[in-house]
Amino acid sequence: IEYDTADIVILTAIFAATIAYFTKGTLWGKPKDLFADVAHTNGSAKAGKTRDFVKKMAESDRNAIFFYGSQTGTAEDYASRLAKEGHARFGLRTIVADIEDYDFENLDTFPSDHLAFFLLATYGEGEPTDNAVEFYEFLSGDEPQFSEGASAEEKPLQNLKYVTFGLGNNTYEHYNAMVRRIDGWLTKLGATRYGSAGEGDDGAGTMEEDFLAWKEEMWQVVCKEMGLDEREAVYEPILKITEDESLSPESDTVYLGEPNKNHLEGKAKGPYNSHNPFIAPIAKSSELFSVKDRNCLHMEIDISGSGLSYTTGDHIAIWPTNSGKETDRILNVLGLGEKRHSVIRVEALDSTSKVPFPSPTTYDAVIRYHVEINGLVSRQFVASLAPFAPSDKAKAELVRLGGDKDAFAEEISSRYLNIAQVLEMLAPGQTWSAIPFSLIVEGLTRVQPRYYSISSSSVVQKDHIAITAVVESIRLPGSKHILKGVTTNYLLALKQKQHGDPNPDPHGLTYNITGPRNKYDGIHVPIHVRHSNFKLPSNPEKPIIMIGPGTGVAPFRAFVQERAALAAKGEKVGKTLLFFGCRNSNEDFLYKDEWPEYSSKLGDSFKLVTAFSREGPKKVYVQHRLQEHADEVNELLKAGAYIYVCGDAAHMARDVNATFGRIIAEKRGQTEAQGEEIVKRMRSSNQYQEDVW
Ligand code: FAD
Repeated sequence: IEYDTADIVILTAIFAATIAYFTKGTLWGKPKDLFADVAHTNGSAKAGKTRDFVKKMAESDRNAIFFYGSQTGTAEDYASRLAKEGHARFGLRTIVADIEDYDFENLDTFPSDHLAFFLLATYGEGEPTDNAVEFYEFLSGDEPQFSEGASAEEKPLQNLKYVTFGLGNNTYEHYNAMVRRIDGWLTKLGATRYGSAGEGDDGAGTMEEDFLAWKEEMWQVVCKEMGLDEREAVYEPILKITEDESLSPESDTVYLGEPNKNHLEGKAKGPYNSHNPFIAPIAKSSELFSVKDRNCLHMEIDISGSGLSYTTGDHIAIWPTNSGKETDRILNVLGLGEKRHSVIRVEALDSTSKVPFPSPTTYDAVIRYHVEINGLVSRQFVASLAPFAPSDKAKAELVRLGGDKDAFAEEISSRYLNIAQVLEMLAPGQTWSAIPFSLIVEGLTRVQPRYYSISSSSVVQKDHIAITAVVESIRLPGSKHILKGVTTNYLLALKQKQHGDPNPDPHGLTYNITGPRNKYDGIHVPIHVRHSNFKLPSNPEKPIIMIGPGTGVAPFRAFVQERAALAAKGEKVGKTLLFFGCRNSNEDFLYKDEWPEYSSKLGDSFKLVTAFSREGPKKVYVQHRLQEHADEVNELLKAGAYIYVCGDAAHMARDVNATFGRIIAEKRGQTEAQGEEIVKRMRSSNQYQEDVW
């Protein structure tokens, strides 16, 4: 390709603006031990062993470390992008680090000319993400014990220079609590922050734009404080991907989607966890309702013999597979359709980087099992593809969209396009074969398991985990494009297969339903279990009030199932009051046939209050019914009732919280502020629990 001067100016700008995108692989690879067999050019697996990050930085000659506390992969993505950008634009020698891989006792020995970045998501009720719990607990104590023994009052972290950004959701009460607390503790211990403590808001849908705006200012401060000059950035892949013609997909060392070596060798074994899924049989599946374009699944997943266990209120994670339709789309648009089954080796080019999935593998397996190809497209990533566009026109469009956040929101994000659809739209009929595959792998996030609130009781069925999932299918008014949820459509296909359809294709999507090397045949799905704090009171005589519209009823089916079983055994069970809401009693009333059965066992102690939003002249929601039952609710609360709320975080959970505050205020002659304060106290003492998403 030949470029003229204007092109070079544009390309340089694009490189500079977007290079940050090319790093993700540095962080992926959590399951590193499981990949220990994987070929690495430079022993990166070994380099990852020490838990002393100061030593590791010294050994690998790095001066900036990017820690991430990530639950769904976004913080991890941001850490890798920033690290790449810091290196490409400012010459920082960077390393990306899963915060759980290191100990923090020696944070006080961090060299003063180095820089630590903390990209920290807040999870649930203002909690740290799973991988940041230890770090959080270490700093949260009154007197964290640092290696040189200085007390908190002596400001042991005076050498530490840091940068921080939080990922939160303003619809939750403890918005960005993690970054706020960590930032406060670090400052209190004497550390110096460069730039503002950034906050991204998923609730407002502005996470990516918040991040982009924050980081520009942050880099200015970092440059000034560290005396760095911006330089021309060039694309430096962190993964080397090469085709290996000596191997074929039939070779038994080639990963066709198996998550790790044990799975590849047919010797999968526990412990099963977020790094190592159990390939679980689906014992039963059905549709709780199926009206035009809306399905809701009930599935029972068999965990017997796996060593996995759950308790009522826990979550199950489902590891999805991308659909054949979207796998084909992206492979074709990248010009890889014909060689999709070629064997490739994926190696880290940098000793501190990790390979994000096992290798050798194939293009098909990488896309189908490991890369999130359907998700929201990032503006920065789109811009980064411009140098590889198949035409000047497509290149110009990428530059325009990459630089204009409003145009990008209108033309791409709000239309729910995925990355392959964007490429198809910008260069109809052409392939984008100049895009390095490494860039796709580094620039898109890794497929994440999706969580579901378990809808069965472990007391009643300890080996069968039930889930209740609405199949995501969203069509925008006036658009032909329908957004299809990755996991829920896969589950729907599994259900169809179980019911005799040999080639299920919900909504035109097909799936490699029998999994890599047919290992998921006989209707299996990869899963793990995540324990939660959403728990029934240990004393079943305590009254409970549950609010769960839609699939928010999932854990409450489990709660009621459990209490009914206890009652049937003759135990005394307290009042069990459930508020459930849906559109219509004949359409989407979940578990409609089961409630009378539970009621027969629980007698007067069970009460179901329904809100059917589309049945009356006015829309009625659960919070309205709650208000109507104010007297009863207040009496139960006085008797020590526990409150549980599950489902939609954005609106319902907030409205329900406010309604409880109002009920308490009204019924006890208090002000609204006092009512709210009482609810707040109930939340902090776990008498008010939420399981919202
Ligand atoms: P995805 O493919 O992940 O899409 C989900 C959403 O992402 C879309 O609706 C859309 O808003 C956005 N999106 C995706 N692609 C794009 C794009 N290209 N452009 C713009 N936006 C896009 N769900 C249940 O049904 N039942 C439960 O009991 C349940 N419990 C949960 C418990 C917890 C703790 C959590 C965190 C979530 C729970 N969920 C539950 C939600 C569930 O995890 C999934 O998010 C949901 O099923 C959708 O998954 P999916 O893979 O089908 O959709």
